Amino acid sequence: MAALQPARGTRDLVGEDCRRHLHVVETARRIAACYGMEEWSTPVFEDTRVFSRSLGDTSDVVMKEMYSFTDRGGDSLTLRPEATAGICRALVSNGLTQSLPQKVFYTGPMFRYERPQKGRYRQFHQIDVEVLGAAEPLADAEVIACGWHVLKALGISGDVTLELNTLGDRDSREAYRAALVEYFTAHREALSADSLSRLERNPLRIVDSKDEGDRRIVAGAPTIAAHLTPAAAEFYDRLRRHLDAFKVPFVENPRIVRGLDYYGHTAFEFVTSRLGAQGTVMGGGRYEGLVEEMGGPPTPGVGWAAGVERLSMLLASAPDPVAPVAVVPVGEAAESPALALLQRLREAGISAEMAYRGNLKRRLERANRIKARAAVILGETEVARGVAQLKDLASGAQAEVPLAEVVARLR
Ligand code: ATP
Ligand code: MG
Repeated sequence: MAALQPARGTRDLVGEDCRRHLHVVETARRIAACYGMEEWSTPVFEDTRVFSRSLGDTSDVVMKEMYSFTDRGGDSLTLRPEATAGICRALVSNGLTQSLPQKVFYTGPMFRYERPQKGRYRQFHQIDVEVLGAAEPLADAEVIACGWHVLKALGISGDVTLELNTLGDRDSREAYRAALVEYFTAHREALSADSLSRLERNPLRIVDSKDEGDRRIVAGAPTIAAHLTPAAAEFYDRLRRHLDAFKVPFVENPRIVRGLDYYGHTAFEFVTSRLGAQGTVMGGGRYEGLVEEMGGPPTPGVGWAAGVERLSMLLASAPDPVAPVAVVPVGEAAESPALALLQRLREAGISAEMAYRGNLKRRLERANRIKARAAVILGETEVARGVAQLKDLASGAQAEVPLAEVVARLR
């Protein structure tokens, strides 16, 4: 029978791949906790409206990438393509809209129907940080500093640049929108079909286009700087001052606009040149109106999401697995005392292994193969005397140790 393969665009995480993945997630979890973020976990599938309302009907994700299906009860459900919408929905569902701010860390699998390539999958994983209910630019700075800190802790901050922009407030965007429509209309014959269709509804998206021809036009497009209201300019100034105080380096890039209609003020991406076309490892910004779409009161939010697969690929090396201790019984009479020792080691939090069978030579070979740091050899004479041979497998040094002291020696 033909061997079955994982579904297109999905991958198994086995061995080194899984260790890289967990290292990214656990590092982010630990650092987010230092920033006061509490971890939430929401369902993998949601009412389709959770995403169609929050991402907007014209977004790429909603138009082309969602895994939506009707279940046996006739409900339209969608495998989540991102985390923010579910978090905003959960804020409302759990009655937390009066307990603000909420600072949330999130991780889990996401699903998008995309053309699979390096760093782009149909099931991928994100780490995500959101602060809900804070209107101050200090929240934006804290969220960005947290992202930068995660990249530093992973040892990849040298490969990554923070690109920062502002999308201003509503009035700034209205003025900018008009300027963009005027500019792109003058160049409409050179725009891609996708961008043409956005010209009226959301010209800001054209600035984000990945199409080569569009990008040449976008290069000459006006930026928002000249259209910022004094309040929006002040918000952006304060954000940059806070980032300086947090010692987070950034460059300004007026082309960072983020795809969604709800973004305002801060928009940012952490980008790398090391992953080809999939160069954005982390992206985020400030948004408004999402919580309202879920049936809650007006609540601002700011956050980011990063692709765990892309971060894993940037790690210089996979973390080593924990080196165990090998327990090696020699002879029938040693087996039960060896099992008792194995259990004591594990209960003391020490990784310990005992081969299911084999003589002394085989067991020591296996201990080397699993990269054990030490072997505890228990022969029948040792058992009778209440001792064990403790062998350091790196140096080969061996010493006799009272059985009662083995755990302490190995800790
Ligand atoms: P891209 O421009 O690469 O399509 P995006 O703007 O769609 O990214 P976001 O929705 O902002 O991405 O998601 C945040 C992060 O999640 C991205 O920066 C990326 O690291 C990761 N990501 C997004 N889509 C995928 C995917 N299909 N496979 C792997 N990682 C992904
Ligand atoms: Mg995308």
